[in-house]
Amino acid sequence: MLTAVIEPGGDLSTLLYVLSFSLFIVGIKQGTSPTTAKRGNMIAAVGMAIAVVTTLLLDGIGNWGVIIGGLLVGGAVGVVASIRVQMTEMPQMVALYNGVGGGAVALISWSEFRHGVGGDFPLEEFIPILFAAVIGSISFWGSNIAFAKLQDLIPTKPLAVPGQQVINAVLLVAIVGICVYLGINHGDDPSQGLFILVLVLAALLGNLVVLPIGGADMPVVISLLNAATGLSAAAAGFSLDNVALIVAGTIVGSSGTILTMEMATAMNRSVPNILFAGFGGAPAGGAGGSGEERPHRSVTAQDAAISLAYADSVVIVPGYGLAVAQAQHAVKEMADELEKRGVEVRYAIHPVAGRMPGHMNVLLAEADVPYEKLVEMEEINPDMPRTSVAVVIGANDVTNPAAENDPDSPIAGMPIIEVANAQQVIVIKRSLSPGFAGIDNDLFYLEKTAMLFDDAKKAAQEIASEVTKL
Ligand code: NDP
Repeated sequence: MLTAVIEPGGDLSTLLYVLSFSLFIVGIKQGTSPTTAKRGNMIAAVGMAIAVVTTLLLDGIGNWGVIIGGLLVGGAVGVVASIRVQMTEMPQMVALYNGVGGGAVALISWSEFRHGVGGDFPLEEFIPILFAAVIGSISFWGSNIAFAKLQDLIPTKPLAVPGQQVINAVLLVAIVGICVYLGINHGDDPSQGLFILVLVLAALLGNLVVLPIGGADMPVVISLLNAATGLSAAAAGFSLDNVALIVAGTIVGSSGTILTMEMATAMNRSVPNILFAGFGGAPAGGAGGSGEERPHRSVTAQDAAISLAYADSVVIVPGYGLAVAQAQHAVKEMADELEKRGVEVRYAIHPVAGRMPGHMNVLLAEADVPYEKLVEMEEINPDMPRTSVAVVIGANDVTNPAAENDPDSPIAGMPIIEVANAQQVIVIKRSLSPGFAGIDNDLFYLEKTAMLFDDAKKAAQEIASEVTKL
């Protein structure tokens, strides 16, 4: 039997917690650059390990059998998932992990509530418990719906019932009303039935808020729910008097909020628009759903290789399709072949290319593309007119001129990579199908654009091999 050695709230536990969240902050700071991100992740993981071990060694921690069982099961699931889950499935993985965090916070709140019932329950502990229970429950259920949509377990299109907003408003008022009632009566043995009712209503609200949001908007929703989980964890930290939980929860809450705002800005949408507009359920088929095929020029890998091999400068614009095709290594090989011939090759990175922030940076870093070759959108756009060939690989919306030219377009105002200004454009994708926003892309029909209809990886491999023959 292990004996607890650290006094809760004592100098040693405070010191270890300060050490752990200092490591979180250093880890996050290092995560801001792809060159140091891996190390940053390890540093933050060490910080988390210190926080977990410190908490486990606190006096009066409880049932070791259950704790060790939980650690083994959780650790096994985490290790298997980290090995098996593909990069393109990362958003749903984050949704699942986030949901588990929210659910844990809701359960801890319930447990704390039960401990306090019948005893002396100070209001300053009671309010955080209620807050953590409501937000944790919303986050758990909302994240599970987000996971189910991204994993295609339920339809990804927006699912709304008539009067949805009114139902949500009624649920919210009921939750707040019951919480206020419980708060007023916190001293006189508050009802556990009402507390459970709050958890259930919050669960319903979590489901109903996320169901009407299209699958493609889920990454933003997940980021928002992540921020909510952080705040609920911080609230739980107040009621448990645990500094590490307060700090870690606040970091998650604030970074999740910043990320949500950044993603919304990069898509030129407001967070309320994402939550309530029912956008993001892109139609699956043909060009913009019109069914009509507009005239376009299609080329072979050999044609593309000739254009690229004799170019002065090439800008590669990666997008979601590159991630789906896992084409990063093939694209790097293609770029290497071009560079051997003296062609300048750079990569244009749009902030919301792919399906999660930093998606393209991570993929290209995996293929050892030097970081200095990755150029942000604002920096590369002025260079487009002097670019011989822009090669769009599995990207669509982030290059769509409609964002700039058509005020009625769903993506109007979204900043784009201005490939249409390059001297020549090659677009590699499998068909004329739209991307995430579900709209046609005028870029495909420009005179200077050549369409290479193929899987991104196969096309890049073929171009690389054709370049070597020239
Ligand atoms: P898009 O979703 O606009 O387009 C991706 C294209 O990839 C599709 O048109 C598809 O065409 C093509 N594709 C799919 N599979 C393959 C394959 N195997 N080989 C070649 N091409 C393939 O992607 P973008 O990256 O341009 O834009 C991202 C979109 O996602 C934006 O609208 C953004 O707002 C949104 N978004 C991004 C988030 C983020 O954090 N990054 C978060 C939420 C939304 P085809 O089927 O013809 O091959």
